[in-house]
Amino acid sequence: MTATGIITIDLEAIADNWRALAALVAPSRCGAVVKADAYGLGADRVIPALAAAGCSAFFVATPLEAASVRAMVREADIFVLDGLLAGSAGAIGAANAMPVLSSVPEVREWAEFGERRGAPQPCAVQIDSGLNRLGLSGEEARATLADARLMSRLDVRLVLSHLASADDPADPKNEQQRRAFEAMRPLLPKGVALSLAASDGLMLGKAYHYDLVRPGYALYGGQAFRGGSTPVRPVLKIEARILQVRDVAPSESVGYSATWKAARPSRIAIIAAGYADGFFRAGSNPGQNTGGIVGIGTATALVVGRVSMDLITVDVTDILPAPERGDLVTLVGPGLSIETMGHRAGTIGYEVLTSLSRRFERRYVGDLTA
Ligand SMILES: *Cc1c(COP(=O)(O)O)cnc(C)c1O
Repeated sequence: MTATGIITIDLEAIADNWRALAALVAPSRCGAVVKADAYGLGADRVIPALAAAGCSAFFVATPLEAASVRAMVREADIFVLDGLLAGSAGAIGAANAMPVLSSVPEVREWAEFGERRGAPQPCAVQIDSGLNRLGLSGEEARATLADARLMSRLDVRLVLSHLASADDPADPKNEQQRRAFEAMRPLLPKGVALSLAASDGLMLGKAYHYDLVRPGYALYGGQAFRGGSTPVRPVLKIEARILQVRDVAPSESVGYSATWKAARPSRIAIIAAGYADGFFRAGSNPGQNTGGIVGIGTATALVVGRVSMDLITVDVTDILPAPERGDLVTLVGPGLSIETMGHRAGTIGYEVLTSLSRRFERRYVGDLTA
Protein backbone atom coordinates (compact mmCIF):
# COMPACT_ATOMS: atom_id res chain seq x y z
CA MET A 1 0.00 0.00 0.00
CA THR A 2 2.98 2.33 0.48
CA ALA A 3 4.38 1.74 -3.02
CA THR A 4 4.18 4.87 -5.18
CA GLY A 5 4.97 2.72 -8.20
CA ILE A 6 5.41 -0.91 -9.15
CA ILE A 7 7.93 -2.41 -11.55
CA THR A 8 7.04 -5.92 -12.67
CA ILE A 9 9.75 -7.98 -14.35
CA ASP A 10 8.87 -11.27 -16.04
CA LEU A 11 11.85 -13.63 -15.67
CA GLU A 12 10.16 -16.34 -17.69
CA ALA A 13 9.81 -13.91 -20.60
CA ILE A 14 13.54 -13.12 -20.36
CA ALA A 15 14.37 -16.84 -20.39
CA ASP A 16 11.98 -17.38 -23.33
CA ASN A 17 13.57 -14.49 -25.21
CA TRP A 18 17.01 -16.02 -24.72
CA ARG A 19 15.72 -19.40 -25.95
CA ALA A 20 14.08 -17.79 -29.00
CA LEU A 21 17.29 -15.98 -29.95
CA ALA A 22 19.36 -19.12 -29.28
CA ALA A 23 17.06 -21.07 -31.62
CA LEU A 24 17.33 -18.34 -34.25
CA VAL A 25 21.13 -18.41 -34.32
CA ALA A 26 21.74 -22.14 -33.77
CA PRO A 27 24.21 -23.78 -34.28
CA SER A 28 25.98 -20.58 -33.24
CA ARG A 29 26.14 -20.11 -29.51
CA CYS A 30 23.98 -17.46 -27.82
CA GLY A 31 25.42 -15.50 -24.91
CA ALA A 32 23.80 -12.79 -22.81
CA VAL A 33 24.90 -9.26 -22.08
CA VAL A 34 24.13 -8.53 -18.43
CA LYS A 35 26.13 -5.36 -17.86
CA ALA A 36 24.71 -2.46 -15.83
CA ASP A 37 22.76 -4.77 -13.49
CA ALA A 38 21.22 -6.62 -16.45
CA TYR A 39 20.20 -3.32 -18.06
CA GLY A 40 18.66 -2.22 -14.78
CA LEU A 41 16.39 -5.24 -14.42
CA GLY A 42 18.34 -6.85 -11.57
CA ALA A 43 21.36 -9.04 -12.33
CA ASP A 44 20.81 -11.13 -9.19
CA ARG A 45 17.46 -12.35 -10.55
CA VAL A 46 18.10 -12.22 -14.31
CA ILE A 47 21.39 -14.14 -14.37
CA PRO A 48 20.12 -17.26 -12.56
CA ALA A 49 17.08 -17.25 -14.88
CA LEU A 50 19.31 -17.09 -17.97
CA ALA A 51 21.68 -19.74 -16.61
CA ALA A 52 18.71 -22.03 -15.92
CA ALA A 53 17.57 -21.51 -19.53
CA GLY A 54 20.96 -22.76 -20.69
CA CYS A 55 23.04 -19.63 -21.19
CA SER A 56 26.73 -20.19 -20.47
CA ALA A 57 28.41 -17.03 -21.80
CA PHE A 58 27.88 -13.74 -19.99
CA PHE A 59 29.18 -10.31 -20.97
CA VAL A 60 29.60 -7.57 -18.36
CA ALA A 61 31.24 -4.15 -18.60
CA THR A 62 33.36 -3.95 -15.46
CA PRO A 63 35.58 -6.11 -13.22
CA LEU A 64 33.16 -5.64 -10.31
CA GLU A 65 30.27 -6.85 -12.44
CA ALA A 66 32.36 -9.88 -13.43
CA ALA A 67 32.92 -10.76 -9.78
CA SER A 68 29.22 -10.54 -8.99
CA VAL A 69 28.27 -12.71 -12.00
CA ARG A 70 30.90 -15.28 -11.01
CA ALA A 71 29.33 -15.54 -7.56
CA MET A 72 26.10 -16.64 -9.29
CA VAL A 73 27.41 -18.90 -12.04
CA ARG A 74 30.30 -21.24 -11.33
CA GLU A 75 30.91 -22.69 -14.78
CA ALA A 76 30.03 -20.04 -17.36
CA ASP A 77 32.37 -17.94 -19.51
CA ILE A 78 32.40 -14.33 -18.36
CA PHE A 79 33.74 -11.59 -20.65
CA VAL A 80 34.55 -8.06 -19.42
CA LEU A 81 33.73 -5.60 -22.22
CA ASP A 82 35.53 -2.59 -20.75
CA GLY A 83 38.66 -4.69 -20.98
CA LEU A 84 41.65 -4.42 -18.73
CA LEU A 85 41.86 -1.29 -16.62
CA ALA A 86 45.45 -0.70 -15.60
CA GLY A 87 46.08 -2.85 -12.54
CA SER A 88 42.80 -4.79 -12.73
CA ALA A 89 44.25 -8.08 -14.01
CA GLY A 90 44.28 -9.62 -10.53
CA ALA A 91 40.61 -8.81 -9.93
CA ILE A 92 39.55 -10.19 -13.31
CA GLY A 93 41.69 -13.28 -12.82
CA ALA A 94 40.23 -13.81 -9.32
CA ALA A 95 36.73 -13.83 -10.87
CA ASN A 96 37.99 -16.34 -13.42
CA ALA A 97 36.70 -13.92 -16.05
CA MET A 98 38.15 -12.93 -19.43
CA PRO A 99 38.97 -9.31 -20.25
CA VAL A 100 38.07 -8.16 -23.76
CA LEU A 101 41.51 -6.74 -24.61
CA SER A 102 41.01 -3.69 -26.78
CA SER A 103 44.34 -1.89 -27.00
CA VAL A 104 48.02 -2.78 -27.28
CA PRO A 105 48.78 -1.80 -23.65
CA GLU A 106 45.97 -4.09 -22.48
CA VAL A 107 47.30 -6.98 -24.57
CA ARG A 108 50.79 -6.51 -23.11
CA GLU A 109 49.54 -6.21 -19.55
CA TRP A 110 47.49 -9.42 -19.83
CA ALA A 111 50.47 -11.24 -21.35
CA GLU A 112 52.60 -10.14 -18.38
CA PHE A 113 49.87 -11.26 -15.99
CA GLY A 114 49.99 -14.70 -17.62
CA GLU A 115 53.73 -14.80 -17.10
CA ARG A 116 53.34 -13.99 -13.42
CA ARG A 117 50.73 -16.72 -13.12
CA GLY A 118 52.95 -19.21 -14.93
CA ALA A 119 50.61 -19.79 -17.89
CA PRO A 120 48.86 -17.74 -20.58
CA GLN A 121 45.50 -16.60 -19.19
CA PRO A 122 42.20 -16.83 -21.10
CA CYS A 123 40.98 -13.60 -22.71
CA ALA A 124 39.12 -12.13 -25.65
CA VAL A 125 40.49 -9.63 -28.14
CA GLN A 126 38.41 -6.88 -29.70
CA ILE A 127 39.21 -5.56 -33.15
CA ASP A 128 37.67 -2.29 -34.23
CA SER A 129 35.97 -2.68 -37.61
CA GLY A 130 34.64 0.85 -37.97
CA LEU A 131 32.86 1.88 -34.78
CA ASN A 132 35.97 3.70 -33.55
CA ARG A 133 35.17 2.97 -29.96
CA LEU A 134 37.10 0.23 -28.16
CA GLY A 135 39.26 -2.20 -30.09
CA LEU A 136 42.61 -2.67 -31.80
CA SER A 137 42.78 -0.86 -35.11
CA GLY A 138 43.32 -3.06 -38.15
CA GLU A 139 46.97 -2.09 -38.14
CA GLU A 140 47.44 -2.79 -34.42
CA ALA A 141 45.64 -6.10 -34.79
CA ARG A 142 47.87 -7.17 -37.68
CA ALA A 143 51.02 -6.26 -35.76
CA THR A 144 49.81 -7.99 -32.59
CA LEU A 145 48.70 -11.16 -34.37
CA ALA A 146 52.01 -11.32 -36.23
CA ASP A 147 53.99 -11.10 -32.96
CA ALA A 148 54.39 -14.82 -32.25
CA ARG A 149 56.17 -14.28 -28.94
CA LEU A 150 53.42 -11.99 -27.63
CA MET A 151 50.65 -14.28 -28.90
CA SER A 152 52.25 -17.30 -27.22
CA ARG A 153 51.73 -15.54 -23.87
CA LEU A 154 47.97 -15.14 -24.42
CA ASP A 155 45.19 -17.71 -24.37
CA VAL A 156 42.78 -16.04 -26.81
CA ARG A 157 39.35 -17.69 -26.59
CA LEU A 158 37.28 -15.16 -28.53
CA VAL A 159 37.86 -12.44 -31.12
CA LEU A 160 35.09 -9.92 -31.40
CA SER A 161 34.08 -6.70 -33.07
CA HIS A 162 31.03 -4.46 -32.66
CA LEU A 163 28.69 -2.99 -35.28
CA ALA A 164 27.79 0.70 -35.45
CA SER A 165 24.52 0.64 -37.39
CA ALA A 166 23.02 -2.82 -37.00
CA ASP A 167 19.58 -1.40 -36.15
CA ASP A 168 19.30 -0.36 -39.81
CA PRO A 169 19.69 -3.40 -42.09
CA ALA A 170 19.88 -1.11 -45.16
CA ASP A 171 23.00 0.65 -43.91
CA PRO A 172 26.02 -0.39 -46.02
CA LYS A 173 28.20 0.10 -42.94
CA ASN A 174 27.06 -3.32 -41.68
CA GLU A 175 28.57 -5.17 -44.60
CA GLN A 176 31.68 -2.94 -44.60
CA GLN A 177 32.33 -3.85 -40.98
CA ARG A 178 31.63 -7.53 -41.58
CA ARG A 179 34.17 -7.53 -44.44
CA ALA A 180 36.77 -5.74 -42.31
CA PHE A 181 36.23 -8.40 -39.60
CA GLU A 182 36.37 -11.18 -42.18
CA ALA A 183 39.66 -9.82 -43.52
CA MET A 184 41.29 -10.52 -40.12
CA ARG A 185 40.28 -14.15 -40.16
CA PRO A 186 43.35 -15.65 -41.85
CA LEU A 187 45.59 -13.93 -39.26
CA LEU A 188 43.77 -15.25 -36.18
CA PRO A 189 44.91 -18.17 -34.02
CA LYS A 190 43.54 -21.44 -35.40
CA GLY A 191 40.13 -22.44 -34.07
CA VAL A 192 39.50 -19.27 -32.07
CA ALA A 193 35.79 -18.39 -31.73
CA LEU A 194 34.47 -15.23 -33.39
CA SER A 195 31.68 -12.84 -32.42
CA LEU A 196 30.28 -9.82 -34.25
CA ALA A 197 26.57 -9.50 -33.50
CA ALA A 198 24.59 -8.00 -30.60
CA SER A 199 20.76 -7.86 -30.55
CA ASP A 200 20.36 -6.07 -33.86
CA GLY A 201 23.34 -7.66 -35.58
CA LEU A 202 21.95 -11.15 -35.11
CA MET A 203 18.84 -10.07 -37.03
CA LEU A 204 21.01 -9.27 -40.08
CA GLY A 205 21.27 -12.98 -40.93
CA LYS A 206 23.52 -16.01 -40.68
CA ALA A 207 26.57 -14.26 -42.09
CA TYR A 208 26.67 -12.12 -38.96
CA HIS A 209 26.32 -14.90 -36.39
CA TYR A 210 29.83 -16.42 -36.41
CA ASP A 211 30.42 -18.62 -33.34
CA LEU A 212 28.82 -16.55 -30.61
CA VAL A 213 26.20 -13.77 -30.54
CA ARG A 214 25.95 -11.26 -27.70
CA PRO A 215 22.41 -9.91 -27.30
CA GLY A 216 21.47 -7.69 -24.38
CA TYR A 217 18.59 -5.40 -25.23
CA ALA A 218 16.52 -8.00 -27.11
CA LEU A 219 16.62 -10.35 -24.11
CA TYR A 220 14.90 -7.62 -22.13
CA GLY A 221 12.17 -7.23 -24.73
CA GLY A 222 13.79 -4.37 -26.66
CA GLN A 223 13.07 -3.94 -30.37
CA ALA A 224 15.49 -1.39 -31.81
CA PHE A 225 15.92 -3.33 -35.11
CA ARG A 226 14.22 -1.46 -37.97
CA GLY A 227 14.13 -4.33 -40.43
CA GLY A 228 11.35 -6.48 -39.00
CA SER A 229 10.41 -7.80 -35.62
CA THR A 230 12.79 -9.52 -33.27
CA PRO A 231 11.37 -12.83 -31.91
CA VAL A 232 11.07 -11.54 -28.36
CA ARG A 233 8.32 -10.28 -26.11
CA PRO A 234 8.16 -7.50 -23.51
CA VAL A 235 9.37 -8.35 -20.02
CA LEU A 236 8.63 -5.16 -18.15
CA LYS A 237 5.66 -3.31 -16.75
CA ILE A 238 5.93 0.00 -14.91
CA GLU A 239 2.96 1.44 -13.05
CA ALA A 240 2.66 4.53 -10.88
CA ARG A 241 -0.02 5.76 -8.56
CA ILE A 242 -2.35 8.73 -8.93
CA LEU A 243 -1.95 10.87 -5.80
CA GLN A 244 -4.59 13.42 -6.57
CA VAL A 245 -6.94 14.58 -9.31
CA ARG A 246 -7.60 18.31 -9.58
CA ASP A 247 -9.63 20.65 -11.74
CA VAL A 248 -7.83 23.47 -13.49
CA ALA A 249 -9.69 26.45 -14.92
CA PRO A 250 -8.98 27.83 -18.42
CA SER A 251 -5.79 29.95 -18.60
CA GLU A 252 -4.50 28.49 -15.31
CA SER A 253 -1.01 27.00 -15.61
CA VAL A 254 0.32 23.65 -14.42
CA GLY A 255 3.76 22.92 -12.99
CA TYR A 256 7.14 24.60 -12.66
CA SER A 257 7.76 27.65 -14.83
CA ALA A 258 4.09 27.55 -15.86
CA THR A 259 4.95 26.02 -19.25
CA TRP A 260 1.45 24.65 -19.89
CA LYS A 261 -1.84 26.52 -19.66
CA ALA A 262 -5.27 24.99 -19.73
CA ALA A 263 -7.19 25.94 -22.88
CA ARG A 264 -10.46 24.59 -21.42
CA PRO A 265 -11.72 23.42 -18.06
CA SER A 266 -9.26 20.57 -17.42
CA ARG A 267 -8.85 17.64 -15.09
CA ILE A 268 -5.26 16.92 -14.14
CA ALA A 269 -4.02 13.73 -12.48
CA ILE A 270 -0.94 14.17 -10.29
CA ILE A 271 1.09 10.96 -10.55
CA ALA A 272 3.88 9.74 -8.29
CA ALA A 273 6.57 9.33 -10.94
CA GLY A 274 9.18 11.92 -11.83
CA TYR A 275 12.59 12.15 -13.36
CA ALA A 276 14.03 10.48 -10.24
CA ASP A 277 11.94 7.47 -11.33
CA GLY A 278 13.29 7.43 -14.86
CA PHE A 279 10.43 9.47 -16.28
CA PHE A 280 12.63 11.75 -18.35
CA ARG A 281 12.26 15.49 -17.89
CA ALA A 282 12.60 15.83 -21.67
CA GLY A 283 9.11 14.28 -21.76
CA SER A 284 7.61 17.49 -20.37
CA ASN A 285 4.64 18.90 -22.34
CA PRO A 286 3.11 17.40 -25.46
CA GLY A 287 4.61 18.08 -28.90
CA GLN A 288 4.60 16.48 -32.32
CA ASN A 289 5.13 12.79 -31.34
CA THR A 290 6.98 13.97 -28.25
CA GLY A 291 6.11 14.40 -24.61
CA GLY A 292 5.36 11.75 -22.06
CA ILE A 293 2.25 9.61 -22.21
CA VAL A 294 0.71 7.23 -19.72
CA GLY A 295 -1.80 4.44 -20.12
CA ILE A 296 -5.02 4.64 -18.12
CA GLY A 297 -7.18 1.58 -18.71
CA THR A 298 -7.19 1.24 -22.49
CA ALA A 299 -6.73 4.99 -23.09
CA THR A 300 -3.59 7.08 -23.15
CA ALA A 301 -3.18 10.51 -21.63
CA LEU A 302 -0.57 13.23 -22.17
CA VAL A 303 1.86 14.68 -19.69
CA VAL A 304 1.27 18.43 -19.45
CA GLY A 305 3.62 20.87 -17.75
CA ARG A 306 7.12 20.08 -16.52
CA VAL A 307 8.13 16.67 -15.29
CA SER A 308 9.46 17.24 -11.77
CA MET A 309 11.62 15.01 -9.57
CA ASP A 310 8.80 13.04 -8.00
CA LEU A 311 5.70 13.93 -10.01
CA ILE A 312 4.12 14.22 -13.41
CA THR A 313 0.89 16.00 -14.25
CA VAL A 314 -1.34 14.35 -16.83
CA ASP A 315 -4.37 15.70 -18.66
CA VAL A 316 -7.19 13.23 -17.97
CA THR A 317 -10.07 15.54 -18.95
CA ASP A 318 -11.34 13.15 -21.63
CA ILE A 319 -10.64 9.86 -19.86
CA LEU A 320 -13.65 7.77 -18.85
CA PRO A 321 -14.25 6.31 -16.38
CA ALA A 322 -12.68 9.23 -14.53
CA PRO A 323 -9.40 8.19 -12.88
CA GLU A 324 -9.28 8.45 -9.13
CA ARG A 325 -6.82 8.90 -6.31
CA GLY A 326 -4.99 5.60 -5.68
CA ASP A 327 -5.44 4.22 -9.21
CA LEU A 328 -2.36 2.87 -10.95
CA VAL A 329 -1.49 4.22 -14.39
CA THR A 330 0.85 2.49 -16.84
CA LEU A 331 4.16 4.07 -17.81
CA VAL A 332 5.40 0.97 -19.65
CA GLY A 333 3.19 -2.00 -20.47
CA PRO A 334 0.83 -3.35 -23.11
CA GLY A 335 0.67 -0.82 -25.96
CA LEU A 336 3.31 1.38 -24.30
CA SER A 337 6.74 0.01 -25.14
CA ILE A 338 10.07 1.09 -23.71
CA GLU A 339 10.86 2.41 -27.22
CA THR A 340 7.77 4.64 -27.18
CA MET A 341 8.62 5.99 -23.76
CA GLY A 342 12.21 6.63 -24.80
CA HIS A 343 11.48 8.15 -28.21
CA ARG A 344 8.88 10.52 -26.83
CA ALA A 345 11.56 11.93 -24.51
CA GLY A 346 14.22 12.11 -27.23
CA THR A 347 16.09 9.02 -26.09
CA ILE A 348 16.05 5.24 -26.55
CA GLY A 349 14.51 2.27 -24.79
CA TYR A 350 17.94 1.24 -23.49
CA GLU A 351 18.03 4.37 -21.35
CA VAL A 352 14.50 3.70 -20.10
CA LEU A 353 15.73 0.34 -18.78
CA THR A 354 18.91 1.64 -17.16
CA SER A 355 17.01 4.53 -15.54
CA LEU A 356 14.36 2.45 -13.77
CA SER A 357 13.17 3.86 -10.47
CA ARG A 358 15.08 2.63 -7.43
CA ARG A 359 12.20 3.53 -5.13
CA PHE A 360 9.32 1.79 -6.88
CA GLU A 361 8.42 -1.63 -5.54
CA ARG A 362 9.87 -4.44 -7.65
CA ARG A 363 7.97 -7.62 -8.36
CA TYR A 364 9.57 -10.53 -10.13
CA VAL A 365 7.23 -13.01 -11.78
CA GLY A 366 7.92 -16.25 -13.68
CA ASP A 367 10.93 -17.26 -11.57
CA LEU A 368 11.42 -20.90 -12.52
CA THR A 369 14.69 -21.21 -10.59
CA ALA A 370 13.09 -20.75 -7.16
C1 LIG B 1 26.31 -3.56 -24.81
C2 LIG B 1 27.02 -4.38 -25.81
C3 LIG B 1 26.37 -5.47 -26.43
C4 LIG B 1 24.90 -5.72 -26.29
O1 LIG B 1 24.20 -4.85 -27.13
P1 LIG B 1 22.62 -4.91 -27.30
O2 LIG B 1 22.32 -3.91 -28.34
O3 LIG B 1 22.04 -4.56 -25.98
O4 LIG B 1 22.27 -6.29 -27.70
C5 LIG B 1 27.13 -6.31 -27.23
N1 LIG B 1 28.44 -6.06 -27.47
C6 LIG B 1 29.07 -4.99 -26.94
C7 LIG B 1 30.51 -4.77 -27.27
C8 LIG B 1 28.38 -4.10 -26.11
O5 LIG B 1 29.01 -3.03 -25.61
